Amino acid sequence: MPETNTVSCDVAVLGSGPGGYSAAFRAADLGLKTVLIEREATLGGVCLNVGCIPSKALLHVAQLITEAEAFRAHGVDFAKPRIDLDLLRAHKNKVVGKLTTGLSGMAKMRKVQVVQGVGAFRSPQEIEVALAAGGTIVVRFEKAIIAAGSEAVTLPFLPKDPRIVDSTGALELPVIPKRMLVIGGGIIGLEMATVYSALGSRIDVVEMLDGLMAGADRDLVRIWQKRNTSRFDRIMLKTKTVGANAKRDGIHVRFEGAGAPEGAEAYDLVLVAVGRTPNGKHIGAERAGITVDARGFIPVDRRMQTNVSGIFAIGDIAEGPMLAHKAVHEGHVAAEAAAGKPSQFDAKQIPSVAYTDPEIAWAGKTEDELKAEAVPFGKAVFPWAASGRAIAMARDEGFTKLLFDPESHRIIGGGIVGVHAGDLISEIALGIEMGSDATDIGKTIHPHPTLSESVGMAAEVFEGVCTDLPPAKK
Ligand code: NAD
Repeated sequence: MPETNTVSCDVAVLGSGPGGYSAAFRAADLGLKTVLIEREATLGGVCLNVGCIPSKALLHVAQLITEAEAFRAHGVDFAKPRIDLDLLRAHKNKVVGKLTTGLSGMAKMRKVQVVQGVGAFRSPQEIEVALAAGGTIVVRFEKAIIAAGSEAVTLPFLPKDPRIVDSTGALELPVIPKRMLVIGGGIIGLEMATVYSALGSRIDVVEMLDGLMAGADRDLVRIWQKRNTSRFDRIMLKTKTVGANAKRDGIHVRFEGAGAPEGAEAYDLVLVAVGRTPNGKHIGAERAGITVDARGFIPVDRRMQTNVSGIFAIGDIAEGPMLAHKAVHEGHVAAEAAAGKPSQFDAKQIPSVAYTDPEIAWAGKTEDELKAEAVPFGKAVFPWAASGRAIAMARDEGFTKLLFDPESHRIIGGGIVGVHAGDLISEIALGIEMGSDATDIGKTIHPHPTLSESVGMAAEVFEGVCTDLPPAKK
C-alpha cells in the first residue's frame, strides 16, 4: 500500500466551530504547532455558517419589521415592507462571509495549518483526513482536541422533499411560505418562527411537551407567549406530528395529541427543529480507544480530557448544553491542558438566550430547578412596567428576576424576559461568577435610563430598598 502524506503536529483539532477554532488558536498562542481539520470550505462550523450568526442577521431584520409595524399605533406609520429575498439572502451571506474570512486570516496569522477534509481517528496518535481536494492525508499528533459538534435530529417518517427543511435549510430563505409548520418548540424552532412570521408567513408550532422552550422558567415563557399568541395561528402543545404526505399543493401533515387539529393541514414549508445529536459516532473514536456513550457524547473530565490521555473533547460532542459560548470556554481549557497548564472547566454558570421577540435569557440556577431540587432560595422581581426606558420604548411587558441564597444573599441565578434580555443577562452571569450579593449589585450605580437598571433595582427589591416601586408590604 502506498504511504499516504503525513503532517506532524503538537495538537490536532478536529472541527472548526467556535469551540474548535478557539482551541486551535489558543493552542497556537501557547506556542504549540497546531493543525485544524475542517470538512467544510470555510471555518466557523454550524454557528458561524448556518446557525447563530445568519439567524441573528435575519432576527435583526425581523425586529426592524416588527418594531416599525408596532409604531403605527404610536404615530409613525411606515409603508408595508417589500422584501427582496435575493438581496436579503445576499446580506445574510455577506455577514457570514465577513466572519469566516476573518477567521481564516487569524488562522494564518497564528500559523495554524488548516486541512480541509473529513477526519477520523486511525489510531491514538493519528487522524486520517479524506481531503476535499481528493486523496488522503494522515495528521500525526501529540495531543488531539475533538470538536466535531452535532447534527440536526431528523424525523424518519417525514418524506424527502425540498419543502421539509432543518435549520440550515430554513436559513437559506428558500421562499417566504404562506403557511409554515415548525416542528419543535425549542429555541431553534421559535427563533425561526420569529423570522418567518415577521417576513409575513402564517405559522403553526407543534411541540410534544406541555410547554415551549423547556429549561426556561415558566414565568419568563408566559410573557413571550402572551405577546406572540396572536402572531401565530396555532401553538399546539402536547401534540406530535405522526405523518406527512408531499403533494403538489403542499406538505399535508397529520397530528395526534391535545392540540391536534382534525385531519391533515397543508403547509408550504415545514421546519424540523426537534433537537441536535452529537457526532461522536462518526469520527472513528473506537480506533483510538475513545469511549463514546450510547447517544454519541464523549465523556470528559474537568480538564476536558477523554478516557485516552492527551485526547480532549469539547463543545456539543461533550456533555452539557449545546451552546457556542460553552464550547469556546471548554476549547480554551482543553488547549491550555494540552499545553501542560493546570486549567479546568469550573464555570459556575452557563447563560442561555432565546433570541426571540421578546428575548428570554437566564443564567445560573433557574427558579424551576431550585424548586425541583427543594433548595431554599430568595427571589426578587423588577417589572419593566416600572422601567422608564422600557416604557419609552413601548416594550414594558418584560421583567428581571434575581434568585439569591437566603442566608448569604449571594446571587445564584436570574432570568430576564424582554427586548435585549440576551445582552442584559451578562451582568447576572458576572455576579454569579464573582459571588456578588444583593447589596453589591444594588449599590452598583447603573446608568439611567437603561434596561440594565432593572438588574440593580431587582437587587434593591430583594433588600427592601427599592424606591422605584410601591413600598413593600410590611
Ligand atoms: P431543543 O431540544 O432545544 O428543542 C426541540 C424541541 O422539540 C423540544 O422542546 C422537544 O420536546 C420538541 N420535539 C422533539 N420531537 C418532537 C416531535 N416529534 N414533535 C414535536 N415536538 C418535538 O432543540 P433545538 O431547538 O432544535 O436546538 C438544538 C440545540 O441547539 C439546543 O441544544 C439549543 O440549546 C441549541 N441552540 C441554541 C440557540 C441559542 O442559544 N440561541 C439557538 C439555536 C440552537
